Amino acid sequence: MSQFENTLSFAQQQDAVDPLKSFRDKFYMPNFHEKQVRYFTGNSLGLQPKSTKEYIVEELDAWAKYGVEGHFLAKKPWFSYHENLTNKIAKVVGAQPLEVVVTHSLTTNIHLLMVSFYQPKGKRTKLICEAKAFPSDQYALETQVKFHGLNIETDLIEIAPREGEHLIREEDILAKIEEVGDELALVMIGGVNYYTGQLFDMKKITEAAHKVGAYAGFDLAHAAGNINLQLHDWGVDFAAWCSYKYLNSSPGGVSGLFVHERHSYKPELPRFAGWWGYDKETRFLMNPGFNPMKGAEGWQLSNAPIIGMAAHLASLDIFDEAGMDRIGTKRDLLTAYLEFVIDDISEKNKERCSFEIITPRDKTKRGAQLSILAHGQGKALFDALSDEGVVADWREPNVIRVAPAPLYNSFEDVYYFGQLLEKSIK
Ligand SMILES: *Cc1c(COP(=O)(O)O)cnc(C)c1O
Repeated sequence: MSQFENTLSFAQQQDAVDPLKSFRDKFYMPNFHEKQVRYFTGNSLGLQPKSTKEYIVEELDAWAKYGVEGHFLAKKPWFSYHENLTNKIAKVVGAQPLEVVVTHSLTTNIHLLMVSFYQPKGKRTKLICEAKAFPSDQYALETQVKFHGLNIETDLIEIAPREGEHLIREEDILAKIEEVGDELALVMIGGVNYYTGQLFDMKKITEAAHKVGAYAGFDLAHAAGNINLQLHDWGVDFAAWCSYKYLNSSPGGVSGLFVHERHSYKPELPRFAGWWGYDKETRFLMNPGFNPMKGAEGWQLSNAPIIGMAAHLASLDIFDEAGMDRIGTKRDLLTAYLEFVIDDISEKNKERCSFEIITPRDKTKRGAQLSILAHGQGKALFDALSDEGVVADWREPNVIRVAPAPLYNSFEDVYYFGQLLEKSIK
C-alpha cells in the first residue's frame, strides 16, 4: 500500500498539514493564461517573492536621495552590501561565511574559479566532466582546456551513461578518476544534472579526486536552494551557482561562489583579479600589486550590482525563515507524490502510452525535479499540457522536466498536474 492517493481530497489533506503551506502566499503565482497556471519550472526561473519589490525600492530610494553617498549613507551601505547576503547563502549551501560570496554571474564565476583551480602542469593536465553537461558549462570547459594550449580530444574526459541507460553511474566516475590518476588536474561536474535531475555524491567524488591529487569543483545551478548541501564538510574545493532557479532571485540574477577554507588565503593561486577582490582596508590606496581579500571575497572583480543583490536578499530572507531542513523534507515528500501521480496515470493509460521517469527513484539521488520520457507521445503531449495552463519544460529530443518547488508548490498543484497530463494524452 502506498502512503499516497491520487485524489484531490488526499492532496488537500497533505496541504493542510504542510508546515511550509504559508510560504506559497509569499510569492506571485503567474497569471497569464485563460486556465489557472500550474507552475513547475522553479528549476529554470523561480517565482517572484512579493517582498522583492520592497527591497529594490529601498535601494532606488537611497540612490535618489544620496547619489554616490549611498555607498556609505544608505541603510544598507552599498560599499559592503554583499556582506548582508553572506551568512544567509552560507547556510543554504552548508559553508562557513568565509567560504562564500555573492558576485557576478554563474558562467563568469566558473571561469574565474577554473583559472585558479584548473592548473595543468607536466603530465597532470586532464579534466573529467559529465557528458552532455549544460551547454554553457561545455563551452566553459572546452575553452579553458584550449586556453592552456591543450587538446580537448585527449585532455577533456567526458563520462557518459552506459549504452542503453539514462543516468551516469557513480561507480564509473570514481573508476575513471582512479584510472586517470596522476594525470588528473580537476573533476568538474554539475552537482545535479540539469537534464535528468540526477544528484551526484559530491563528497565521494571529492574524496576520490583528492586521493589522486586533483581538485574537485561543482556547478550547483540545479542544486543551490534545492539540495541540502554541506560543501564545507564534504571538502569540495570550489563551487558556483546561479540565484534565479530554486533561489528565486530575479531573471539573470547574481551568482554565488564557494572556495573551501583550506584555500582561503593563498595569494600564490593564479587568478584574474579586480579591485573588489583586493584587501578591503587598503583597497582605495591603489597600491600596485594585488593583495587578495581572505576567503571567497578575494575572487570578486567588481563592485556589487545592488539592484540584483537586493532581489537576492529578499529571497534569502525567505530561505532563512523556512530553513533548508524543512525545505528538504517537503521536497522529498512532494516529489515522491509527483512520482506516484505520474506512475498512477501511466498505469491507468498503459494501452495508449507510458511515462518513464528517468530521474533516480531513490530520493537521496535527486532533488525536486523529475524528468519524464513520454513514450508514444512526443512534443504534442507537451503542447497540450501547456494549453491546459501547465508550465513545465520541454528538452529535445523528448524529455519533459517538472519541478515542484517546495516553497510555493502545493500537493494540489501536483494532483492537477496528473489530471492535466492524463487529459493531454493523445
Ligand atoms: C542554468 C545553468 C547555467 C546558466 O549559466 P548563466 O551564466 O547563469 O547564464 C549554467 N550551468 C548550468 C548547469 C545551469 O543549469
